Amino acid sequence: MSLACALARSQLADRSMLIVDLNAKDRNDRTWCFWSDHTDPFDDILHRQWDAVRFTGHGFDRRLDLGQFRYKMIRGIDFYEHTHRLLANFPNVHFQQGQIERIDENDSAASVSIAGQTYTTDWVFDSRVLPGSITIDRSRYHDLKQHFKGYLVESEAPVFDPHTPTLFDFRVQPHGDMRFFYVLPFSERKALVEFTLFSARLLSEEEYHSELKDYLKYTLAVGPYSILEQESGIIPMTDLPFPRRLGKRIMAVGTLGGRVKPSTGYAFARIQKDSDAIVASLVDQGHPFAVPTGSARYRWFDRTMLQVMYRGGDEMGDIFTQMFRRNSIQRIFRFLNEENTWSEDIRLLSSLPVWPFLKAFLKVNLLGRV
Ligand SMILES: Cc1cc2nc3c(=O)[nH]c(=O)nc-3n(C[C@H](O)[C@H](O)[C@H](O)COP(=O)(O)OP(=O)(O)OC[C@H]3O[C@@H](n4cnc5c(N)ncnc54)[C@H](O)[C@@H]3O)c2cc1C
Repeated sequence: MSLACALARSQLADRSMLIVDLNAKDRNDRTWCFWSDHTDPFDDILHRQWDAVRFTGHGFDRRLDLGQFRYKMIRGIDFYEHTHRLLANFPNVHFQQGQIERIDENDSAASVSIAGQTYTTDWVFDSRVLPGSITIDRSRYHDLKQHFKGYLVESEAPVFDPHTPTLFDFRVQPHGDMRFFYVLPFSERKALVEFTLFSARLLSEEEYHSELKDYLKYTLAVGPYSILEQESGIIPMTDLPFPRRLGKRIMAVGTLGGRVKPSTGYAFARIQKDSDAIVASLVDQGHPFAVPTGSARYRWFDRTMLQVMYRGGDEMGDIFTQMFRRNSIQRIFRFLNEENTWSEDIRLLSSLPVWPFLKAFLKVNLLGRV
């Protein structure tokens, strides 16, 4: 949908498009957050945006002013409804709900089969993550996941600060993995509270629930509350390279196209940037594949960070506390956006504990092992 909207904003807006999804996309199945220091294509449907965030680490609790950045939030359902409405204005854009059974291609065209019907097209953009489509050799690549469960809660007492979401709250006992809470406040009584882990092993359902309930009761002291909605997700955090070209006329996009940042699990803003790059490539080159691949230094850093998280999950609260204590939030955001200068990156890296990162860097980047 992001790519279709980017095409609709471009000089290719009159091209015929078919958008196929198995799912009706009529539920609020996720909440996207991202930071940005400019206007974005979906600013009209932001549910909230904040100019500060809170970081609560070990012996460090700070409200961080974002300066020129905003932390933005879009509800899944608003995105689905908005993009459907917008694209419905284009007579050349068609939707079909159904399961893609096959994608084929030859030199001059590709085809997609849905419920026995075959459609021929110049290009296919594939975002299906099918069971078994991502297989990770764990001796060479990390296989971590960002997994989380969240409650949208309404409390009786006014306990939330609606002006300040909590990006990280490390007041939780780690068990060899990186775990933290994340709070998106909508009002003084309403917030989405998420228990999040970056780890190789998923938890049982009861573990997510009991951590969330303890956090609400003891750490936030929310008092009586009701749960209005629940959200959960598993996002791959891996340094496995994702090929963009799945064929001469088939391109992987979204998660399947490796757009999830391996060390953070954030993907939304990267998908928007990638969509614009695909459109630019189609316009300039006549094919979609001339998109930036990302710089080697950020690939090294992602790989190193995954190793530090994988081997030293218990230390992550301290490491993140050090990072947020010694760097401005703007430097951290630019670093995670892969947009910092070398010197800014060196300043950020030199604020982190040397030994775990050096050890991890040498192991994964020089020896190629996990
Ligand atoms: C709960 C949740 C919260 C997230 N929050 C954030 C966040 O705050 N910030 C951020 O940056 N990222 C976030 N992410 C990560 C990422 O931005 C999202 O996962 C994003 O939706 C990825 O886009 P995608 O196109 O790869 O996959 P999807 O949005 O999942 O789209 C893939 C589509 O393919 C369809 N499909 C699958 N198989 C078939 C088939 N055989 N035939 C037809 N259709 C098929 C599915 O129905 C689905 O609609 C979150 C992810 C989840 C799951």
